[in-house]
Amino acid sequence: PRTPVTVTVTGAAGQIGYALLFRIASGQLLGPDTPVRLKLLEITPALKAAEGTAMEIDDCAFPLLTGIDISDDPNVAFDGANVALLVGARPRTKGMERGDLLEANGGIFKPQGRAINDHAADDIKVLVVGNPANTNALIARAAAPDVPAERFTAMTRLDHNRALTQLSKKTGAPLSDITRLTIWGNHSATQYPDIFHAEIAGKNAAEVVNDETWLAEEFIPTVAKRGAAVIEVRGASSAASAANAAIDHVHTWVNGTPEGDWTSMAVPSDGSYGVPEGLISSFPVTTEDGAYEIVQGLELNAFSRTRIDASVAELAEEREAVRGLGLL
Ligand code: NDP
Repeated sequence: PRTPVTVTVTGAAGQIGYALLFRIASGQLLGPDTPVRLKLLEITPALKAAEGTAMEIDDCAFPLLTGIDISDDPNVAFDGANVALLVGARPRTKGMERGDLLEANGGIFKPQGRAINDHAADDIKVLVVGNPANTNALIARAAAPDVPAERFTAMTRLDHNRALTQLSKKTGAPLSDITRLTIWGNHSATQYPDIFHAEIAGKNAAEVVNDETWLAEEFIPTVAKRGAAVIEVRGASSAASAANAAIDHVHTWVNGTPEGDWTSMAVPSDGSYGVPEGLISSFPVTTEDGAYEIVQGLELNAFSRTRIDASVAELAEEREAVRGLGLL
């Protein structure tokens, strides 16, 4: 039997955690041949709730699961971690300024980054889900100088999946026919879902749609504001779809993108497409053998360029703000 992969999940007692942990333990994150050891990190008041979830996971008798540990100490929870899903974060509450939000999250992601640096396995892969995800990933990365920067990523896969479905509904094409869609920039309302390089059964998606008004006034805002729309209708924020996207993100990172296709991941910029180096921004990426590469050489029209620049400018502002707080 293969050695178990240690997966650390923070915010394990939360909504997303509840939708995520069972799927990890059942093998959907890493595949049906990979045993998993779960390590859950929670804040002290939520430890008991995390224990309750762990009891339920035990009661599923997942054959691939070799054990569950729970801790409120990042140094313990990240010990030996091969994959870290950073879900727990400080949500924005009413009247909270952005600076306060970033500072509160700095208090979470800086020590977690340091614990990853000091205790995680050499092959650690980090996905940040907790918002503001891109900048939280930046803070954690900066606190982990001994870990290769590219191992710190943030999630835009839910935006990617949302965009796939909107495009499928608009064109009537099955989801399986749609490839090469891209989310650029920040996981926020400024994100840019790009269909100019997407293909539907091999045809250019923007040409198939042929409706720039729909693109600008329906598609982009629907994808960007989908989270708020779910809250309004469901009465609670999306959780299972976010967990699903986290599973997709790591599964693709570990197992590779299909030939001819790519996915969207927020990764530290190497300067590609004029995105300032080091910002954790969403790009089209291909993955193979547990590593990813930013897709190169795409031509960006003015419509795309303006929107990417706006989202990247927001990331640059967030970086300045956390720098100002001494978090980088
Ligand atoms: P959720 O599990 O619903 O959400 C967790 C984080 O995921 C939030 O930051 C949320 O951002 C973010 N997120 C990213 N994408 C999405 C999406 N598409 N839809 C919804 N959320 C998204 O939050 P809960 O409050 O239920 O649980 C959080 C848990 O984290 C609590 O149990 C808390 O105790 C714990 N926590 C743990 C920490 C730790 O381990 N050190 C630190 C801080 C908290 P947004 O708020 O913008 O929706």
